[in-house]
Amino acid sequence: MDWARHCARCGLAAAFGAESRRLSCPHCGFELFLNVASAVSAVLRHQGQVLWLRRAKAPGLGLLDLPGGFVDPDEDLEVAIARELQEELGLKVGAGRYLFSAPNRYDYGGVTYRTLDAYFEFELAALPAVTLNDEAQALMWLPPLEVTPAMLAFDSLRAALPRLQALENV
Ligand SMILES: [Zn+2]
Repeated sequence: MDWARHCARCGLAAAFGAESRRLSCPHCGFELFLNVASAVSAVLRHQGQVLWLRRAKAPGLGLLDLPGGFVDPDEDLEVAIARELQEELGLKVGAGRYLFSAPNRYDYGGVTYRTLDAYFEFELAALPAVTLNDEAQALMWLPPLEVTPAMLAFDSLRAALPRLQALENV
């Protein structure tokens, strides 16, 4: 399915497919690149458990996610993950530890956004008091070994899960 049928500059017909990374108008030469976006995810740990969010919205409605989101323009990863934790959970954290990255697809409004998610780990000394925003309907503390791929909302999380589980076995 095309997600756009007309050029955003000249308005003439131009089909832009759902998988297109480069939109190129055959009439006026307008080009637009849909590059991979940076995103961040937080692995918040407390006594062997990790905080998971049950998504309140599509994509992945009702499935588990980790706190995080898109990196803003001019923002670095470390600032982005701290901002997302503040916005999503009302949580202030110290410096996290970079773990790994995993590519993701985020389907929203008929457009597939490609992201590269950077995972940061935070070891929390105490169970934090958190407040959920409207992105999550519930939160739960679960060890990664009790989570299965079918419970997860995104490809990126399914790639991350065995790596998180391997960290448990060290
Ligand atoms: Zn055009």
